[in-house]
Amino acid sequence: MKEIYKSKNLENVKYAIRGRAMEEACKMEKEGVDILKLNIGNPAEFGLKVPKKIRKCMKKNIKKAEGYSNSKGIEEARIAIKKYYEGKNVRDINIDDIYLGNGVSELILMSIKALLSKDEEVLIPMPDYPLWTASVNLAGGKAVHYICEEENEWYPNIEDIENKITNKTKAIVIINPNNPTGSLYEKEILEQIIDVARRYNLIVFSDEIYDRLVYDDLEHISIASLSKDVPVITFSGLSKSHMAAGFRIGWMLISGNKEYIKDYIQGLNLLSSMRLCSNVPAQYIVEKALKYTKSTKKLFKKGGRLYKQREYIYNELNNIPGITIQKPKAAFYIFPKIDTKKFNITDDEKFALDFLKEKHILLVHGSGFNYNNIDHFRITYLANKKQLRHTIKQLKDFLKTYKQ
Ligand code: PLP
Repeated sequence: MKEIYKSKNLENVKYAIRGRAMEEACKMEKEGVDILKLNIGNPAEFGLKVPKKIRKCMKKNIKKAEGYSNSKGIEEARIAIKKYYEGKNVRDINIDDIYLGNGVSELILMSIKALLSKDEEVLIPMPDYPLWTASVNLAGGKAVHYICEEENEWYPNIEDIENKITNKTKAIVIINPNNPTGSLYEKEILEQIIDVARRYNLIVFSDEIYDRLVYDDLEHISIASLSKDVPVITFSGLSKSHMAAGFRIGWMLISGNKEYIKDYIQGLNLLSSMRLCSNVPAQYIVEKALKYTKSTKKLFKKGGRLYKQREYIYNELNNIPGITIQKPKAAFYIFPKIDTKKFNITDDEKFALDFLKEKHILLVHGSGFNYNNIDHFRITYLANKKQLRHTIKQLKDFLKTYKQ
């Protein structure tokens, strides 16, 4: 037989979070090396568990969950999601405009696939959560990256967005709260994005998977609450807020004037039906989970585990010569800047690989988030304080002599 090759459609599809450094880490593990994996936002790996009540709820409903559900999901879950967003001031929600999915990931792929024909464009933040760029490339479209400015709290640069709009642009993606930067967008920025979308006829995709994971009593504003007319698709789920990443449960909600996108909605319905439905046992926890957010809040409020870990990692990294950072306002990632001149860095993936090989800790290089510079890396600070202390000690030691 001759060798069989993968699809050409995968040519520009990348997912660095589980990329070369992760492959190397797995190889090292097979050789018996212990690796501290700070590359993925997987709470369960660091002892952060699904609240008991939620697990019980899934068990209780398991018998009801043996068959396929409606392709958009069970009604109780969609009613609960509707109420949740009404509580966040999103208006005129219809449960037919809510789709449950196997995590937000499946819905990102689905919503992009339903939208794009060849070479059509989507504006994506830079840095991004790389699944967005990968999905656009997989769908045959073109990901056009707009700048988020580190010196301005990592907010999107509106002028840059406008400059990058062409007659092929169909949508703009925002990730708020943001992965990898931990930024949380203020109302004024969101209003400006709605205004641009209105003027240029764009759909807004808002990835809000971290909306319940905010520090310092800050308020998360759903961009959908600021638009009656511009169509907005809001994405969220329980992977992070309820530590339930393995259950694969997320949702998307369409709001705004649906008349403008009725053909697109038909496309979404088709793709939603083609995958039959999402994991049904997990759909049964949505209602309970959206009412029960106490344990998440506890982790993020002053004195809570993730609050303390954010303080620790931010303060310690800030004290390392050659590193500067913006303090995260949400989620559990930090995106430090590293002085490339000082360490002679010309390849940030090599930096992550060298650190892995010498110190057995796995980070993700900044350009893996489609960032057009090689002077950042991302640490997931879900690991406990002892592991974070170890990380800082190893990083300081590594940087004492590191030169590329
Ligand atoms: N969106 C962002 C910004 C993420 O960080 C992640 C996961 O890390 C996802 C979506 C995917 O989440 P899910 O587990 O719901 O597929």
